[in-house]
Amino acid sequence: MFSSMRWRIIFPYTLLILLSVAGMGFFLSNDIYQAQLQSLQDRLTDDALLLSDSLLNDKKDELTSGQPLTADARYWAGLLDARVTIIAGDGTVLGESHQDIEGMDNRLNRPEVQSALEYGIGTNIRYSQTVKYDMLYVAIPILQNQEVIGYTRVSLPLKEIEANQAQVRNKIIIATIVAASLGGALSIVIALRITHPLRTLTQEAQHMTQEETTRHLSSTRRDEVGQLTQAFNALVKKLQSQIHALQSEQGKLASVLEKMTDGVVIADRDGDLILFNAAAERMFNTRAEMAVGNSLAKILRQHQWIELWEQCKQTGQEQSSTLEISRQGSFIQGIALPLGDALPEHILMLFQDLTRIRRLETVRRDFISNISHELRTPLASLKALTETLQSGALDDPPAAGRFLGLMETEVDALSHMVSELLELTRIESGQVPLELKTIFPRDLLTLANDRLKMQAERAQVKLILECSDDLPAIQADPPRLGQVMVNLLHNAIKFTPANGEVTLSAHQQGEMIEFIVQDSGVGIPADDLPRIFERFYKTDRARSSGGTGLGLAIARHLVEAHGGKIWVESIEERGSTFHFTIPRK
Ligand code: ADP
Repeated sequence: MFSSMRWRIIFPYTLLILLSVAGMGFFLSNDIYQAQLQSLQDRLTDDALLLSDSLLNDKKDELTSGQPLTADARYWAGLLDARVTIIAGDGTVLGESHQDIEGMDNRLNRPEVQSALEYGIGTNIRYSQTVKYDMLYVAIPILQNQEVIGYTRVSLPLKEIEANQAQVRNKIIIATIVAASLGGALSIVIALRITHPLRTLTQEAQHMTQEETTRHLSSTRRDEVGQLTQAFNALVKKLQSQIHALQSEQGKLASVLEKMTDGVVIADRDGDLILFNAAAERMFNTRAEMAVGNSLAKILRQHQWIELWEQCKQTGQEQSSTLEISRQGSFIQGIALPLGDALPEHILMLFQDLTRIRRLETVRRDFISNISHELRTPLASLKALTETLQSGALDDPPAAGRFLGLMETEVDALSHMVSELLELTRIESGQVPLELKTIFPRDLLTLANDRLKMQAERAQVKLILECSDDLPAIQADPPRLGQVMVNLLHNAIKFTPANGEVTLSAHQQGEMIEFIVQDSGVGIPADDLPRIFERFYKTDRARSSGGTGLGLAIARHLVEAHGGKIWVESIEERGSTFHFTIPRK
């Protein structure tokens, strides 16, 4: 409380007034006392001189012979209204107004008598044993021809002056108290006037920090407080704009972190997480609220990541490593970077999911090896046939004709493959515009059924068509969707042994029409299922069979170009079911 500015004003003010009034009063009362004392002294001096003169004139003999003068002393005391003592030149008391002189000792050594002897007048204030209170004594020598023949001493009690003095002191004390109270009250008013706006300002500032809101403080004052309020308002405004700028920066940063596909994690010097973005949540299957504040080891779980963090912490250098999580079939690259001055001893860890890139690399590698493989077989047989012709078969026209026929078959197969590849590339790059027409699912199925009926019969596979007539029409490019149907049906017949069945069907599935080609053939191994729609991909079993491995890739692209989806379900040795959907008209 006393540390507040208000009290710092009130206390010194009041104390100052108190001290100055009290000091002034003290000096004043002292002065009055001295003045009164002086006037009393002057009066007693006059009285003593008068008495001395009278005694010198009338009682010279008594004085010199040492006769008692008590009656004179009493007479003069009555006249002067004071105590009167008449002393002989040797100090013997000859007359005393207020006491019997019998037994009174010599007065020569009294200070006032000594002073009178020395300086011609002597005064002294002391406690009188005779009358029992403070007295002012004034003594004058009685001189005859420059010789001291006696002394007159007139004295009065100081009671009166002291009573006066006490009265003055009381008045001064009262005046001091009144002045101090008035001064105190005035200082309170002044202190309040000065501190009130400051208190309001402080309260407003406290409100703002508690409510976390900002408002403009109004002040009509033009003094320092008004200037302070204005400065405060300007400060708040500046702070507000800085906070806004920071918030928008933070918002940008947060949305970048949120939308990033890479996992971003920041760990402090103890390895506790302070940041965990959405991608990291997905990668490590942990909510950010759970992760932040927890240790790196607990959340990232893999010891490689903890080692990476430790290496980065020890070396202060960027570290990276790749981890294959075979359980999820994914590849993750982790990079640990020290954050330097921005956040000392904090380490930023970035996690990139390389699974897709790795998969694409594998697809590309496989594609090259597959295409080389597909080209090698016809090219090798063409080379063999050419060599046979060169080494003499040309001279045997029937054999040469047969060889040329075989060569033509190989060249046809090659050109078929090249044209399929070209077709696929064109579809993939969107160079084949679809010519959409309204067709009914049943017509599409019937067309495919008719085209492959003969092939199915040859393979002794039963072809079944199941489709109701009232299925709604679809919007599709008939030759292209027909090609999808034929590709699927062709595969189904090819991979179904004799006496097997292939069923073609279609039904409505919400806004889509779903087409199904189901066979009771060899099926597809589970490991191959995810890759079956890739270019040139063939199961081990189909590797020796004819076919380029491009049919399903073409089918997938065409279905997707129509806005549909294609997928397969299969159990080895039981058969496969290919589904694809096309939106309704
Ligand atoms: P291909 O011209 O070799 O038939 P596809 O792209 O049409 O090429 O098929 C790719 C591979 O998918 C085939 O080689 C085969 O291994 C497998 N496959 C496709 N359809 C079936 C099916 N109905 N039954 C079993 N395997 C199939």
